[in-house]
Amino acid sequence: MVLKVKLPNGTALTRGAVIKSALCLAAFLCLAAPAQAEWVRRVTDGIMGTRIIVELWSDDEAKANRAIDALLDEMRHIDESMSTFKPTSEVSQVNAKAADGPMKISKELFDLLTTAKEYSVITDGAFDITYASVGYMYDFRKHVHPDQAQIDKALPAVDYRHVLLDPVNQSVQFSRKGVRIDLGGIAKGYSVDRGIDVLKSFGITRAYVSAGGDSRIIGDRFGKPWVVGIRDPRKGEGEVIARIPLVDAAISTSGDYERFFEENGVRYHHIIDPHTGHSASKVRSATVIGPYATRTDGLSKTAFVLGPEKAMEIYNRLDDIDAIIVKLDGTVIYSKGMQRAAGHAPAKPDR
Ligand code: ADP
Ligand code: MG
Repeated sequence: MVLKVKLPNGTALTRGAVIKSALCLAAFLCLAAPAQAEWVRRVTDGIMGTRIIVELWSDDEAKANRAIDALLDEMRHIDESMSTFKPTSEVSQVNAKAADGPMKISKELFDLLTTAKEYSVITDGAFDITYASVGYMYDFRKHVHPDQAQIDKALPAVDYRHVLLDPVNQSVQFSRKGVRIDLGGIAKGYSVDRGIDVLKSFGITRAYVSAGGDSRIIGDRFGKPWVVGIRDPRKGEGEVIARIPLVDAAISTSGDYERFFEENGVRYHHIIDPHTGHSASKVRSATVIGPYATRTDGLSKTAFVLGPEKAMEIYNRLDDIDAIIVKLDGTVIYSKGMQRAAGHAPAKPDR
């Protein structure tokens, strides 16, 4: 028996044709219906010497993966252009030549150098990319540090005012020999912001991106905030002193537990006081919350150099900034905005 199905327009289909049509329809529905929406997470090591974590919501996994690939490409490009570990990078070229005369640089680098100088001004010189004039002599992996004579010789080259920027010619020049710059204190935050821009260009509206201590969030988790833990500076990676709920915000933490070694009771770690050339050790950690990761990164080193009270004064002056500082004695202080949010200023007892 041949099964016939009458179609509204009067044509009839045989059973085989019906099955074929049904298969076609099913295939069409599969294509037309959105793929299952889900959270997509990827962890990538080795860009800018750090771990990149991306988590986002997408109704199309293939698109989500394309967006993450593009974000990682952008971060690799920033690493190629700004790393002082790569002799071919634009920043390495600047370090090699900018004391000899004005040097035209890319708009991207020019803009970031301009931003870096702004943070030097805001932080009373605590943030200073010319720290590298002394900083290049430290190697925290190999436990190497300069002696006092080497520091004394190199220290006059540490001053952000030595970096002369000419917006008309988009050029940079160092006002004296011996000046070196390093964007390690702001490039990760910048790359997180660029990464978020890339995700937005793919239509992503809920995402978390982090590069080491610098993270930014767009959107929420469907009515709930994202929660970012602040590590306890004297305990293991999983131990936190606070969990901060965040929506549409950036957060950067600097800690003396990152890249450090101890010698004769002295803790040598990777944040350098531009005034002394030594590790800046006035706090254990500082967390800054604000709208962009470039901004929170540029501000998170301040407390190490200026101390908790002076740094908190600066943070409290900035309307869009909140901060949490773990002092040397283990107590925790919060910016005014966070005290208001919590209704009080909780402090941790000494440990
Ligand atoms: P992370 O590299 O994990 O984001 P930080 O945000 O705390 O950590 O930045 C530390 C880096 O900042 C150092 O490794 C160094 O490259 C750079 N740096 C150190 N001292 C200063 C300083 N006084 N001003 C600006 N950058 C600094
Ligand atoms: Mg940082």
